[in-house]
Amino acid sequence: MSRPAIAHIRLDAFRHNYRVAKQCHGGKALAVIKANAYGHGAVHCAKSIEGEVDGFAVACLEEALQLREAGIPEPILLLEGFFEANELPDIVANDCWIVVHAQWQLEILLSAKLAQPLQVWLKMDSGMHRLGLSVSEYVQAYERLNGHKNVKKIVAMSHFANADNLSSDHTSQQIEVFQNTIHALKQAARIELSLANSAAILGWQKIKRDWSRPGIMLYGASPIVQSSQVPVLKPVMQLTSKIISIRNIKKGESVGYGSIFTADKDTIIGVVACGYADGYPRSAIAGTPMAVDGIMTRLIGRVSMDMLFVDLTDIPAASIGSQVELWGNQVAANDVAKAAGTIAYELFCNVKRAHFQYFDASNI
Ligand SMILES: *Cc1c(COP(=O)(O)O)cnc(C)c1O
Repeated sequence: MSRPAIAHIRLDAFRHNYRVAKQCHGGKALAVIKANAYGHGAVHCAKSIEGEVDGFAVACLEEALQLREAGIPEPILLLEGFFEANELPDIVANDCWIVVHAQWQLEILLSAKLAQPLQVWLKMDSGMHRLGLSVSEYVQAYERLNGHKNVKKIVAMSHFANADNLSSDHTSQQIEVFQNTIHALKQAARIELSLANSAAILGWQKIKRDWSRPGIMLYGASPIVQSSQVPVLKPVMQLTSKIISIRNIKKGESVGYGSIFTADKDTIIGVVACGYADGYPRSAIAGTPMAVDGIMTRLIGRVSMDMLFVDLTDIPAASIGSQVELWGNQVAANDVAKAAGTIAYELFCNVKRAHFQYFDASNI
């Protein structure tokens, strides 16, 4: 018997979501599998769409090397490019594409001696003000890279700050800034463009550009909570554990650290073998949804490192060993995230210690 906290990963659902993303946007799609595929396991996820994926995106060379060592042959884009000049030989040797987002990277790239030219995704800051060359630097940077011996091809990219907010006009403004700057380039008509993350793919469907960059939607969570037009995404991760203890609490008694839950009536409580060391958020408030043997119920008390409490008062059939879904099929990760003051991205990335089990209904 081993500890029953398990992250079940449905690779067929991942593949389904990739196809949805690609179809929804049109054009080519880089599957964003940075941060170990948002905690799902980058190599497994990558292999599940091998042969049909247009390419992958990761944060850095180390993440790309893990994929190359596992034999993944598809293009890999490094979303933050290189951090130091001494990464360039490995980037070339492993056939990665790089984002160039700052003037200092541009200077290093232009003066480097490379065995082969690189494909560059030149990033514009169109209004998010995180990474990217400013509009005033962009045209000159493009012209310097274009035709340079170290540069094979240039894709123009930018990233949205508010694409998940359908009532914000910031996204339209960013598109306009991007477009106007691209139009100023001599080769404008022939340049491949990339703008859309998941939120833009789902919420701004009129932006059709050559390359999309779906991340969170591949894992089955929509970044746009209020939208009826969102296509069906399948959850990829189901986090489950089991009940290892049950107690009957009398009205007025308290439960767990800090005694933050006091029963207002006689209450049956299950102790679940999953805690914040497994990635369940300690900040989740009482009432956060979970399911026991398929029946919806709620978290009570404070989440501890290895355990949490679930209300079994209305689930008399629950017993030691009953399965508890923390999120996945019945319990939306977005709902748990909301109750914990965070986003599904962070929940997924934080899952650890739980055993990972991979499933793939192939031929789907
Ligand atoms: C992480 C990332 C994405 C994917 O974003 P999602 O919101 O997960 O779809 C796309 N583009 C860039 C530049 C990113 O850093």
